[in-house]
Amino acid sequence: MKYNFTKENIIKLLEENDQNRVQQLYDDAFRTKIDNVGNKVYLRGLVEITNICRKNCLYCGIRRDNPSNDRYEIDIEDVIPAARFAYEQGYGSMVIQGGERHDKKFRDKITSILKEVRKISSESPLGITLSLGEQPFDVYQEWFEAGAHRYLLRIESSTQELFEKIHPVDESHSFQTRLTALEDLRRAGYQVGTGVMIGLPFQTLGHLADDLLFFKSFDIDMCGMGPYLEHSQTPLYQYKDLLIPKEERLELSLKMVAILRLMMPKINIAATTAMQSIDPAGREKAILAGANVIMPNLTLTEVRGDYSIYENKPGVGEDASITSSSLERMLQNAGIPIGYNEWGDSLHFKDRK
Ligand code: SAH
Ligand code: SF4
Repeated sequence: MKYNFTKENIIKLLEENDQNRVQQLYDDAFRTKIDNVGNKVYLRGLVEITNICRKNCLYCGIRRDNPSNDRYEIDIEDVIPAARFAYEQGYGSMVIQGGERHDKKFRDKITSILKEVRKISSESPLGITLSLGEQPFDVYQEWFEAGAHRYLLRIESSTQELFEKIHPVDESHSFQTRLTALEDLRRAGYQVGTGVMIGLPFQTLGHLADDLLFFKSFDIDMCGMGPYLEHSQTPLYQYKDLLIPKEERLELSLKMVAILRLMMPKINIAATTAMQSIDPAGREKAILAGANVIMPNLTLTEVRGDYSIYENKPGVGEDASITSSSLERMLQNAGIPIGYNEWGDSLHFKDRK
């Protein structure tokens, strides 16, 4: 099918109810993916390094003002074995994600971790993505020089009005600062990934269409989007009655993935954990709708339950190797090859360079 991605047309695709047409969209996106970036799925082993956060995003379970959360920070001695595990399993890359922190000790620790991870193998080093919130430019630079080369920072919503409904309106949660941060990351040399939550209270299909157009105009390299999942210990929970059912949030997320793949054929798109939490096969469905990256969770079992951005996160209580092997089995059953020992960088980024 031929597509023309005006805002109006994107909205029509997002509201499409005819299951044959929706399937056609997924199939077109899957085909576009294969033609442009291939059939492989790339793995990034995810380490959730800390749930200590200076921010108070109104949707997030580990926001600063949630007292019912045991705070942790993983020691460098425990991060390195996780990185080695990822390396030995042939994951090719890892992601270090956590709350936003500006203390010097944390900054230095990340720098040390990056340098240590580099040492695991000098011949085929592990690719490293960071997702540690907004940072000063010199911190982005320091971490880049220490070995990170991709950074994920979701815009959460590209509509300022909606952004301000889901964040406190203050200096630490400024829409403008977030845009500047994305520009800084690019200037520092990273492959830049962003994304949004889907199915937020007050969010319309028009907002989501604008998000996709924003990704295109910002010329992003990577994208991670997923359904919003309400968390009872957060301020946004009071609007839970405004939400569409979870299955619809998942379907909307799959449509977003598919449309974005058609709009930006060569970027990397993640099949996210939030999709899996609605449907055990959520990530595989996203792969069949155009996504090409999965982040198996490698966080130590003891602390995994404390990194509850949203409730009932999958994989909690499971061992890293079990989580990943059940995932691998599912991909194998679907006939999807895994890009073992490859970084699987964004081809879009390579083309732009
Ligand atoms: N602190 C960093 C990284 C950790 S949060 C940051 O904010 O960038 C990573 C992502 O989790 C956020 O970008 C947000 O989109 C997502 N998230 C937070 N709370 C969520 C919720 N309740 N439902 C779904 N996704 C959520
Ligand atoms: Fe902190 Fe990120 Fe959660 Fe916001 S979304 S409260 S920055 S961990």
